[in-house]
Amino acid sequence: RAKAAGRHRYRFHDAQVEAEVRQRVALVEELHAACADNQFELYYQPQVDTRRQRLVGVEALLRWNHPERGLLGPGAFIRAAETSGCLLDIEDWVLRQACRQMSEWQVQGLLETAIISVNLSPLQFKTVEFENSVLSALEEAGLSPQCLELEITERSVAERPEAVAPLIERLTATGIRFSIDDFGTGYSSLQYLKKLPVSKIKVAQEFVADMLSDPSDASIVRAIISLGHELGYEVIAEGVETEAQRDFLQDRGCFLFQGYLFGRPSPASQMTEHLRNGLYAAKGGGSLSLP
Ligand code: C2E
Ligand code: MG
Ligand code: MG
Ligand code: MG
Repeated sequence: RAKAAGRHRYRFHDAQVEAEVRQRVALVEELHAACADNQFELYYQPQVDTRRQRLVGVEALLRWNHPERGLLGPGAFIRAAETSGCLLDIEDWVLRQACRQMSEWQVQGLLETAIISVNLSPLQFKTVEFENSVLSALEEAGLSPQCLELEITERSVAERPEAVAPLIERLTATGIRFSIDDFGTGYSSLQYLKKLPVSKIKVAQEFVADMLSDPSDASIVRAIISLGHELGYEVIAEGVETEAQRDFLQDRGCFLFQGYLFGRPSPASQMTEHLRNGLYAAKGGGSLSLP
Protein backbone atom coordinates (compact mmCIF):
# COMPACT_ATOMS: atom_id res chain seq x y z
CA ARG A 1 0.00 0.00 0.00
CA ALA A 2 2.68 2.42 1.02
CA LYS A 3 4.55 1.56 -2.13
CA ALA A 4 1.52 2.21 -4.28
CA ALA A 5 0.92 5.52 -2.58
CA GLY A 6 4.57 6.43 -3.07
CA ARG A 7 4.40 5.60 -6.73
CA HIS A 8 1.26 7.62 -7.03
CA ARG A 9 2.88 10.65 -5.43
CA TYR A 10 5.81 10.24 -7.72
CA ARG A 11 3.64 10.25 -10.79
CA PHE A 12 1.80 13.30 -9.47
CA HIS A 13 5.13 15.06 -9.03
CA ASP A 14 6.17 14.23 -12.61
CA ALA A 15 2.92 15.59 -13.92
CA GLN A 16 3.41 18.78 -11.95
CA VAL A 17 6.93 19.29 -13.24
CA GLU A 18 5.73 18.64 -16.74
CA ALA A 19 2.94 21.16 -16.36
CA GLU A 20 5.39 23.74 -15.06
CA VAL A 21 7.77 23.20 -17.94
CA ARG A 22 4.90 23.44 -20.41
CA GLN A 23 3.77 26.67 -18.75
CA ARG A 24 7.24 28.17 -18.98
CA VAL A 25 7.56 27.29 -22.64
CA ALA A 26 4.16 28.85 -23.28
CA LEU A 27 5.17 31.97 -21.37
CA VAL A 28 8.28 32.38 -23.49
CA GLU A 29 6.23 32.07 -26.69
CA GLU A 30 3.70 34.55 -25.38
CA LEU A 31 6.50 36.96 -24.50
CA HIS A 32 7.83 36.88 -28.04
CA ALA A 33 4.34 37.55 -29.33
CA ALA A 34 3.92 40.34 -26.79
CA CYS A 35 7.06 42.05 -28.09
CA ALA A 36 5.90 41.81 -31.68
CA ASP A 37 2.43 42.92 -30.72
CA ASN A 38 3.31 45.76 -28.34
CA GLN A 39 1.46 44.44 -25.31
CA PHE A 40 3.69 46.25 -22.84
CA GLU A 41 2.85 49.42 -21.02
CA LEU A 42 4.56 51.64 -18.50
CA TYR A 43 2.97 52.68 -15.24
CA TYR A 44 4.34 55.66 -13.38
CA GLN A 45 4.73 56.18 -9.66
CA PRO A 46 5.53 59.52 -8.03
CA GLN A 47 8.53 60.17 -5.80
CA VAL A 48 8.11 63.09 -3.44
CA ASP A 49 10.20 65.28 -1.19
CA THR A 50 8.20 66.03 1.95
CA ARG A 51 10.63 68.63 3.24
CA ARG A 52 10.42 70.78 0.16
CA GLN A 53 6.87 69.60 -0.51
CA ARG A 54 7.36 68.69 -4.10
CA LEU A 55 7.33 66.00 -6.68
CA VAL A 56 10.94 65.08 -7.45
CA GLY A 57 10.61 62.07 -9.69
CA VAL A 58 8.47 59.52 -11.42
CA GLU A 59 9.50 55.87 -11.67
CA ALA A 60 8.53 53.94 -14.80
CA LEU A 61 7.29 50.45 -13.96
CA LEU A 62 6.77 47.81 -16.60
CA ARG A 63 3.41 46.10 -17.11
CA TRP A 64 2.25 43.46 -19.57
CA ASN A 65 -1.31 43.59 -20.84
CA HIS A 66 -1.64 39.85 -21.31
CA PRO A 67 -4.44 38.98 -23.75
CA GLU A 68 -5.93 36.33 -21.44
CA ARG A 69 -4.46 36.88 -18.02
CA GLY A 70 -4.91 40.64 -17.84
CA LEU A 71 -2.42 43.11 -16.42
CA LEU A 72 0.79 41.46 -15.21
CA GLY A 73 3.55 42.99 -13.11
CA PRO A 74 7.24 42.34 -13.74
CA GLY A 75 7.37 39.63 -11.09
CA ALA A 76 5.26 37.42 -13.35
CA PHE A 77 7.50 37.59 -16.39
CA ILE A 78 10.87 39.33 -15.97
CA ARG A 79 12.72 36.13 -15.17
CA ALA A 80 11.19 34.31 -18.15
CA ALA A 81 12.00 37.28 -20.37
CA GLU A 82 15.58 37.21 -19.20
CA THR A 83 16.10 33.52 -19.99
CA SER A 84 14.19 33.66 -23.25
CA GLY A 85 16.34 36.40 -24.69
CA CYS A 86 13.62 39.00 -25.24
CA LEU A 87 14.32 41.05 -22.13
CA LEU A 88 16.76 43.29 -23.96
CA ASP A 89 14.18 44.22 -26.58
CA ILE A 90 11.64 44.93 -23.88
CA GLU A 91 14.06 47.07 -21.92
CA ASP A 92 15.11 49.00 -24.97
CA TRP A 93 11.45 49.80 -25.49
CA VAL A 94 11.08 50.76 -21.81
CA LEU A 95 13.93 53.26 -22.03
CA ARG A 96 12.59 54.86 -25.21
CA GLN A 97 9.02 54.95 -24.00
CA ALA A 98 9.92 56.41 -20.60
CA CYS A 99 12.03 59.14 -22.21
CA ARG A 100 9.31 59.92 -24.75
CA GLN A 101 6.64 60.15 -22.05
CA MET A 102 8.77 62.35 -19.84
CA SER A 103 9.53 64.66 -22.74
CA GLU A 104 5.81 64.88 -23.52
CA TRP A 105 5.01 65.84 -19.92
CA GLN A 106 7.69 68.51 -20.06
CA VAL A 107 6.40 69.91 -23.33
CA GLN A 108 2.91 70.04 -21.80
CA GLY A 109 4.38 71.96 -18.89
CA LEU A 110 3.23 69.30 -16.45
CA LEU A 111 6.51 68.00 -15.08
CA GLU A 112 9.18 70.61 -15.20
CA THR A 113 11.22 69.89 -12.12
CA ALA A 114 10.94 66.13 -11.70
CA ILE A 115 13.07 63.44 -13.30
CA ILE A 116 12.10 60.08 -14.74
CA SER A 117 13.67 56.94 -13.33
CA VAL A 118 13.98 53.66 -15.19
CA ASN A 119 14.91 50.22 -13.86
CA LEU A 120 17.81 48.44 -15.50
CA SER A 121 18.39 44.72 -15.42
CA PRO A 122 21.91 43.41 -14.82
CA LEU A 123 21.66 41.75 -18.22
CA GLN A 124 20.98 45.01 -20.02
CA PHE A 125 23.73 46.76 -18.15
CA LYS A 126 26.20 44.19 -19.43
CA THR A 127 25.65 44.65 -23.16
CA VAL A 128 27.97 46.67 -25.36
CA GLU A 129 25.00 48.49 -26.89
CA PHE A 130 23.77 49.72 -23.54
CA GLU A 131 25.47 53.09 -23.51
CA ASN A 132 24.35 53.91 -27.03
CA SER A 133 20.80 52.80 -26.45
CA VAL A 134 20.49 55.12 -23.47
CA LEU A 135 21.93 58.06 -25.35
CA SER A 136 19.81 57.43 -28.41
CA ALA A 137 16.64 57.07 -26.33
CA LEU A 138 17.34 60.52 -24.87
CA GLU A 139 18.15 62.02 -28.23
CA GLU A 140 15.09 60.58 -29.95
CA ALA A 141 12.87 61.91 -27.20
CA GLY A 142 14.60 65.27 -27.07
CA LEU A 143 15.08 64.78 -23.36
CA SER A 144 18.00 66.22 -21.49
CA PRO A 145 20.23 63.64 -19.73
CA GLN A 146 19.75 65.57 -16.47
CA CYS A 147 16.14 64.41 -16.45
CA LEU A 148 16.96 60.70 -16.49
CA GLU A 149 17.81 58.50 -13.55
CA LEU A 150 18.79 54.87 -14.00
CA GLU A 151 18.08 52.43 -11.17
CA ILE A 152 20.59 49.67 -10.85
CA THR A 153 20.70 46.85 -8.36
CA GLU A 154 23.54 45.75 -6.17
CA ARG A 155 23.66 42.63 -8.34
CA SER A 156 24.54 44.69 -11.43
CA VAL A 157 27.45 46.22 -9.64
CA ALA A 158 28.63 43.22 -7.70
CA GLU A 159 28.99 41.05 -10.77
CA ARG A 160 31.60 43.24 -12.45
CA PRO A 161 32.50 46.30 -10.40
CA GLU A 162 35.60 47.09 -12.48
CA ALA A 163 33.60 47.28 -15.73
CA VAL A 164 30.56 48.96 -14.26
CA ALA A 165 32.31 51.86 -12.55
CA PRO A 166 33.73 53.45 -15.74
CA LEU A 167 30.41 52.96 -17.53
CA ILE A 168 28.53 54.72 -14.75
CA GLU A 169 31.16 57.43 -14.76
CA ARG A 170 30.82 58.04 -18.49
CA LEU A 171 27.05 58.24 -18.34
CA THR A 172 27.16 60.39 -15.22
CA ALA A 173 29.41 62.81 -17.10
CA THR A 174 26.59 63.36 -19.60
CA GLY A 175 24.28 64.36 -16.74
CA ILE A 176 22.42 61.09 -16.19
CA ARG A 177 21.99 60.06 -12.56
CA PHE A 178 22.19 56.63 -11.02
CA SER A 179 20.51 55.18 -8.00
CA ILE A 180 20.81 51.84 -6.26
CA ASP A 181 17.47 50.08 -6.00
CA ASP A 182 16.41 47.81 -3.15
CA PHE A 183 19.43 48.87 -1.18
CA GLY A 184 20.40 46.45 1.55
CA THR A 185 18.98 43.33 -0.05
CA GLY A 186 21.86 42.49 -2.38
CA TYR A 187 25.45 41.65 -1.76
CA SER A 188 27.14 44.94 -2.29
CA SER A 189 30.47 45.62 -0.76
CA LEU A 190 30.81 49.04 0.80
CA GLN A 191 34.33 48.99 -0.56
CA TYR A 192 33.32 49.54 -4.17
CA LEU A 193 29.99 51.13 -3.44
CA LYS A 194 31.81 54.20 -2.16
CA LYS A 195 33.68 54.48 -5.45
CA LEU A 196 30.60 54.56 -7.66
CA PRO A 197 29.24 57.92 -8.69
CA VAL A 198 25.65 57.06 -7.83
CA SER A 199 23.60 59.86 -6.39
CA LYS A 200 20.86 58.05 -4.56
CA ILE A 201 20.06 54.87 -2.69
CA LYS A 202 16.58 53.45 -2.36
CA VAL A 203 15.83 51.79 0.97
CA ALA A 204 14.31 48.42 0.08
CA GLN A 205 10.65 48.20 0.84
CA GLU A 206 10.98 44.94 2.71
CA PHE A 207 12.74 46.79 5.52
CA VAL A 208 10.24 49.63 5.45
CA ALA A 209 7.34 47.17 5.58
CA ASP A 210 8.36 45.72 8.93
CA MET A 211 10.41 48.46 10.56
CA LEU A 212 7.63 49.50 12.94
CA SER A 213 7.22 46.00 14.34
CA ASP A 214 10.66 44.50 13.88
CA PRO A 215 13.48 46.22 15.79
CA SER A 216 16.18 44.77 13.57
CA ASP A 217 14.50 46.15 10.45
CA ALA A 218 14.25 49.48 12.23
CA SER A 219 17.99 49.34 12.93
CA ILE A 220 18.76 48.46 9.32
CA VAL A 221 16.67 51.36 8.05
CA ARG A 222 18.31 53.78 10.46
CA ALA A 223 21.76 52.51 9.46
CA ILE A 224 21.05 52.79 5.73
CA ILE A 225 19.78 56.36 6.12
CA SER A 226 22.78 57.55 8.08
CA LEU A 227 25.33 55.62 6.02
CA GLY A 228 23.74 56.94 2.83
CA HIS A 229 23.77 60.52 4.02
CA GLU A 230 27.29 60.29 5.35
CA LEU A 231 28.54 58.97 2.03
CA GLY A 232 26.79 61.86 0.29
CA TYR A 233 23.89 59.99 -1.27
CA GLU A 234 20.29 61.02 -1.34
CA VAL A 235 18.18 58.43 0.43
CA ILE A 236 14.66 57.57 -0.68
CA ALA A 237 12.39 55.10 1.10
CA GLU A 238 10.32 52.73 -1.01
CA GLY A 239 7.03 51.08 -0.21
CA VAL A 240 5.84 53.70 2.25
CA GLU A 241 2.17 52.97 2.87
CA THR A 242 1.27 54.64 6.14
CA GLU A 243 1.71 57.96 7.88
CA ALA A 244 3.35 56.16 10.78
CA GLN A 245 6.02 54.81 8.44
CA ARG A 246 6.53 58.25 6.91
CA ASP A 247 6.87 59.87 10.32
CA PHE A 248 9.32 57.24 11.54
CA LEU A 249 11.49 57.84 8.48
CA GLN A 250 11.25 61.62 8.71
CA ASP A 251 12.31 61.47 12.34
CA ARG A 252 15.40 59.66 11.14
CA GLY A 253 16.25 62.21 8.50
CA CYS A 254 14.65 60.69 5.41
CA PHE A 255 12.41 63.05 3.44
CA LEU A 256 12.26 61.35 0.06
CA PHE A 257 9.45 58.89 -0.45
CA GLN A 258 7.85 56.54 -2.89
CA GLY A 259 4.90 54.39 -1.92
CA TYR A 260 1.16 53.94 -1.94
CA LEU A 261 0.78 56.69 0.68
CA PHE A 262 1.95 59.17 -1.95
CA GLY A 263 0.44 57.54 -5.00
CA ARG A 264 0.17 54.14 -6.65
CA PRO A 265 1.76 53.34 -9.98
CA SER A 266 -0.69 54.45 -12.66
CA PRO A 267 -0.97 54.48 -16.44
CA ALA A 268 0.39 57.50 -18.30
CA SER A 269 -3.09 58.81 -19.06
CA GLN A 270 -4.04 58.80 -15.39
CA MET A 271 -0.77 60.40 -14.37
CA THR A 272 -1.37 63.11 -16.97
CA GLU A 273 -4.83 63.69 -15.57
CA HIS A 274 -3.49 63.92 -12.02
CA LEU A 275 -0.90 66.45 -13.08
CA ARG A 276 -3.46 68.47 -15.04
CA ASN A 277 -5.66 68.55 -11.96
CA GLY A 278 -2.84 69.99 -9.91
CA LEU A 279 -1.98 66.88 -7.93
CA TYR A 280 1.63 66.74 -6.78
CA ALA A 281 1.81 70.51 -6.99
CA ALA A 282 2.20 72.69 -3.93
CA LYS A 283 -1.15 73.82 -2.55
CA GLY A 284 -1.92 77.20 -1.05
CA GLY A 285 -0.37 76.48 2.33
CA GLY A 286 2.71 75.12 0.60
CA SER A 287 1.82 71.50 1.24
CA LEU A 288 1.85 68.88 -1.47
CA SER A 289 -1.47 67.89 -2.97
CA LEU A 290 -1.85 64.11 -3.09
CA PRO A 291 -4.44 61.79 -4.63
P1 C2E B 1 11.23 48.31 -7.78
O1 C2E B 1 12.02 48.99 -8.82
O2 C2E B 1 11.79 48.25 -6.43
O3 C2E B 1 9.82 49.06 -7.83
C1 C2E B 1 8.99 49.23 -6.72
C2 C2E B 1 7.93 48.18 -6.66
O4 C2E B 1 7.18 48.34 -5.47
C3 C2E B 1 6.91 48.25 -7.78
O5 C2E B 1 6.46 46.92 -8.02
C4 C2E B 1 5.79 49.07 -7.16
O6 C2E B 1 4.54 48.86 -7.77
C5 C2E B 1 5.82 48.55 -5.76
N1 C2E B 1 5.34 49.51 -4.77
C6 C2E B 1 5.43 50.86 -4.80
N2 C2E B 1 4.93 51.43 -3.68
C7 C2E B 1 4.51 50.40 -2.91
C8 C2E B 1 3.89 50.34 -1.62
O7 C2E B 1 3.64 51.33 -0.95
N3 C2E B 1 3.61 49.09 -1.15
C9 C2E B 1 3.88 47.97 -1.87
N4 C2E B 1 3.56 46.80 -1.32
N5 C2E B 1 4.47 47.98 -3.08
C10 C2E B 1 4.77 49.19 -3.60
P2 C2E B 1 6.30 46.37 -9.49
O8 C2E B 1 5.82 47.46 -10.39
O9 C2E B 1 5.54 45.10 -9.41
O10 C2E B 1 7.77 46.07 -9.91
C11 C2E B 1 8.53 45.09 -9.26
C12 C2E B 1 9.97 45.17 -9.67
O11 C2E B 1 10.13 44.82 -11.03
C13 C2E B 1 10.58 46.55 -9.55
O12 C2E B 1 10.90 46.80 -8.23
C14 C2E B 1 11.77 46.41 -10.45
O13 C2E B 1 12.83 45.77 -9.78
C15 C2E B 1 11.26 45.48 -11.52
N6 C2E B 1 10.90 46.29 -12.71
C16 C2E B 1 9.86 47.12 -12.92
N7 C2E B 1 9.91 47.66 -14.15
C17 C2E B 1 11.04 47.19 -14.71
C18 C2E B 1 11.69 47.40 -15.98
O14 C2E B 1 11.24 48.17 -16.85
N8 C2E B 1 12.85 46.71 -16.20
C19 C2E B 1 13.38 45.87 -15.26
N9 C2E B 1 14.52 45.24 -15.53
N10 C2E B 1 12.82 45.67 -14.07
C20 C2E B 1 11.66 46.31 -13.80
MG1 MG C 1 13.04 50.57 -9.07
MG1 MG D 1 12.97 48.91 -5.20
MG1 MG E 1 12.58 45.42 -6.57
